[in-house]
Amino acid sequence: MLIKEILSEGKTAVSYEFFPPKNPPGWERLYQTITKLNHLNPAYISVTYGAGGATREHTHKLVTQLVRETDAEIVAHLTCVGHSRDEMKSILDRYAESGVHNILALKGDTPSDRIVGRSKPPGAFPHASDLVSFIKDNYPGMGIGVSGFPEGHPSSVNRLEELVYLKEKVDAGADYIVTQLFFDNRDYYDFVDRCIIAGINVPVIAGIMPVTGLSNMNHMAKLAPRTRFPSGLIRAVNRAETDEGVEMAGTHWATEQMRDLLDRGAPGIHLYTLNNSASTIRMGESLGLVGFHNLR
Ligand SMILES: Cc1cc2nc3c(=O)[nH]c(=O)nc-3n(C[C@H](O)[C@H](O)[C@H](O)COP(=O)(O)OP(=O)(O)OC[C@H]3O[C@@H](n4cnc5c(N)ncnc54)[C@H](O)[C@@H]3O)c2cc1C
Repeated sequence: MLIKEILSEGKTAVSYEFFPPKNPPGWERLYQTITKLNHLNPAYISVTYGAGGATREHTHKLVTQLVRETDAEIVAHLTCVGHSRDEMKSILDRYAESGVHNILALKGDTPSDRIVGRSKPPGAFPHASDLVSFIKDNYPGMGIGVSGFPEGHPSSVNRLEELVYLKEKVDAGADYIVTQLFFDNRDYYDFVDRCIIAGINVPVIAGIMPVTGLSNMNHMAKLAPRTRFPSGLIRAVNRAETDEGVEMAGTHWATEQMRDLLDRGAPGIHLYTLNNSASTIRMGESLGLVGFHNLR
């Protein structure tokens, strides 16, 4: 099933994101997480891709394993930075053969070893919109999602121009947008409004990542440098007296975000799980939910 079909059901589709582990203990932990989260029945699961391709086989392995072993729809992230047209084609051919019908088409960030150095070309696709067009032209049956940045992408010249480029991705064939993480829902609602004004009329899925520790909060700040950490969140985290308390406070904040998004009928909520199940399970329990699939 294509993600756009799930989103067209008019309910809030809750999805998870996993990343492919780099070593056997990581795979073991991930499978425990998947087992624990399975009963929450996500609308779909997405798997990240290491820009530059170093971990591309790990992504392919996890995506195809999830397709075989779970009932959930699987979305494979795919970044185009540093990839030739032939490389992209070979990756997409393999996905098509394995029954993967949904791609999150991204530019990715140039790996640091390529910034300082060497001869490898930047790739055949300068922007994510070029990858969207390529998929649309060559794999017309595939569903395509793209990223959006409520607080602005770090490399954008300005926020007005950014919406023009976002519209290019949608006009090229993207079915929906998944946002970068944010902690203040007003940023999301304003972004959705600005998309509508710009003529972008596809569903915008809200990206939510609970703070689960102080180091994880610093990691988020690096991952998404434009992210505003509201004073209320920082106070709640500082008030906590133990590591567990920080996790509880961060999960509570994310749960409140989720409750508000559900109340206001967001088309989708994408949970950045970081391969952990505890916060996601606690969020579901706090909201009194038996399962996450297509909530009203
Ligand atoms: C939901 C989500 C999932 C992600 N998953 C991954 C992942 O799995 N792996 C990974 O490596 N990274 C991932 N990222 C990070 C993402 O790859 C980086 O943020 C990257 O820098 C931007 O990718 P993009 O697809 O938004 O790029 P683009 O849409 O190409 O935009 C990048 C920048 O270029 C500008 N731009 C776009 N088109 C033009 C144009 N024609 N002319 C001039 N400027 C233009 C945009 O305004 C923006 O500032 C994810 C991000 C999100 C929000």
